[in-house]
Amino acid sequence: MFSINSVLTASCMPVIRAYSTCGQKNRVPAKYLANTGRCGACKSPLPPIAEPLAVDDALFDEVVQNAPVPILVDFWAEWCAPCRAAAPEVARTAADMAGKAIVLKVDTEKYPQFAARFQVRGIPNFAVFFGGRPVMQQAGLVSHEQMEQWLRSAAPVSA
Ligand SMILES: [Zn+2]
Repeated sequence: MFSINSVLTASCMPVIRAYSTCGQKNRVPAKYLANTGRCGACKSPLPPIAEPLAVDDALFDEVVQNAPVPILVDFWAEWCAPCRAAAPEVARTAADMAGKAIVLKVDTEKYPQFAARFQVRGIPNFAVFFGGRPVMQQAGLVSHEQMEQWLRSAAPVSA
């Protein structure tokens, strides 16, 4: 099991709290999630997000609309065995692509409205967004290599 340590409940303007080595919570706007920042307390570098981020509606839109990098969305549910099998692949993708992409997880049981919005009929279901727009969507378990390939091909120019 991996842990999602950045769960956040949205208010009006969602921000994400990242944890630096000193334990300080830092507010990071969605558009800077893939950047290296600086801890507000100890000034040490705050690395780009490297783990999947659990999102609700508001934070999903905030990240998809504002992130300058491709985004992988994992539509999943706790009862879904293939989703649990996909979880390490999703986590690995977030780690491998830190600074180059952002990985979001949507709990389709908690937020069933996403299923209608993105026509999610079978899970796990993966979607890639870039520049606020959907690039591709596919159901079924895949490897992290495949996920990373989707993300790399989603951005027209990648460093
Ligand atoms: Zn710090």
